[in-house]
Amino acid sequence: DVRVRFCPSPTGTPHVGLARTALFNWAYARHHGGSFVFRLEDTDASRDSEESAAGIYDMLEWLGLTPDEGVHEGGPHAPYRQSERHDLHAEVARKLVEAGYAYESFSTPEEVEERHRAAGRDPKLGYDNFDRELTDEQKEAFRAEGRQPVLRLRMPDEDITFTDMVRGEVTFPAGQIPDYVIVRGNGIPLYTLVNPVDDAAMGITHVIRGEDLLSSTPRQVALYRALIAIGEAEQVPTFGHLPLVLGNGTKKLSKRDPEADLFLHRKRGFVREGMINYLALLGWSIGPDEDIFTPEELVEAFDVHDVNPNPARWDQKKAESINGDHLRRLDLGDFTACLLPLLQDAEVLPERPSMGELARLKAVAELVQTRVPVLAEAVELVRPFFVEDSALVRDENAVAGLKEDAPQVLATATEALEAIPDTPPVVLGDPNDEAGPRWAAADIEAALRESLVEGMGIKPKFAFAPLRVALSGAKVSPPLFESMEILGKSSTLARLRSLGG
Ligand code: GLU
Repeated sequence: DVRVRFCPSPTGTPHVGLARTALFNWAYARHHGGSFVFRLEDTDASRDSEESAAGIYDMLEWLGLTPDEGVHEGGPHAPYRQSERHDLHAEVARKLVEAGYAYESFSTPEEVEERHRAAGRDPKLGYDNFDRELTDEQKEAFRAEGRQPVLRLRMPDEDITFTDMVRGEVTFPAGQIPDYVIVRGNGIPLYTLVNPVDDAAMGITHVIRGEDLLSSTPRQVALYRALIAIGEAEQVPTFGHLPLVLGNGTKKLSKRDPEADLFLHRKRGFVREGMINYLALLGWSIGPDEDIFTPEELVEAFDVHDVNPNPARWDQKKAESINGDHLRRLDLGDFTACLLPLLQDAEVLPERPSMGELARLKAVAELVQTRVPVLAEAVELVRPFFVEDSALVRDENAVAGLKEDAPQVLATATEALEAIPDTPPVVLGDPNDEAGPRWAAADIEAALRESLVEGMGIKPKFAFAPLRVALSGAKVSPPLFESMEILGKSSTLARLRSLGG
């Protein structure tokens, strides 16, 4: 049975690298019908926060990466908070010492450096395994000085090789890694001990995590072998290290880069499907010429072995374009529902919109759905439909950029539109019927083309630009004729007149 884990430390706000790690673990578990285990590695009281832990759960919920076992879910291996598992960690540490896999070490960093120097070696070489063979008398003497020993794992004197699911065979030569600390002098166990001990206790079969942890893997493999020897683990899990995520240039995307902040993207109006799709592309692809897929298609096709070990790059434009694809796939009701909270935040719509406002929103939403990569960009397109005509604010540059004949165009358009009876259309965009022109996009378009393009001989681009600015206040707006239909005749005319028509 495949059992994977997602085991973040609750520091800071969720970043996209963390989300990708969660996603790939989840997808691997779902693909294999296995278990996705959530463990909170809250062992650094000075940096951890409940707020951050809540943010991580918020992330999992938003992305729909529901753990099978975890802090909220419970499960057969509870507790799932590392801080509540210290009895186990202490017990395993004691057994490792008893069986000779770990030992007490009293050397101070200064003493280690001094020994390197005395032997003509680089003082920064790191720990020299000096305390491996201390006698009981020597230990007693150190204790008598008031020294508190750390516990170190004895690294095996042989190469450590493992087959990484992403990178293939990885070897760390013997002697390269000094015996390392698993428990501090004050008795506090370190990540290097508790992470594998908990993985073993929870029966984790596959460890999928960021490349930044690759250097800790040989230590953990060595520890696993010791855990197996003392009966605390059954197997060394299979590792897979996901590629780095770069930001601009060749720099690693840092937690301080705004693109790294997952919730900032959510605020800008990424939807779950768009975010999952783009996160998956950070190292994986579904096929040579295929970029767009659903979470279900990801689960169906995903294999960590297909992840590319080369660094991935966060490309905001690409992320947004992928999101735009998913926005277009939503049905109109869902799209409108996703958009509504952003409109309320921006005070385009009130907390409790009226039926009329909701109906208008749906009509406008249909016009903008195909035109925005992220929901935030829809907000300004929608706003003009919900302001009083007299309160419409126009972009000064857009107004100043109009050609000289704009007043003439506006006046002619006004006259042509006045002639259309104010008959509300039955269906948006319904073509003409025998009853003659109505206030509908097709009839509006026909009247404007006749009067401006044919009548005045102006190119459509220049004919319609002043109308667009008059109606929306901006150079870019949803399609003009449909917008006029939705605004209604009196608003349309009022706006044309207020710009000089
Ligand atoms: N708590 C560790 C971290 O957030 C987990 C690393 C791992 O997956 O082993 O970096």
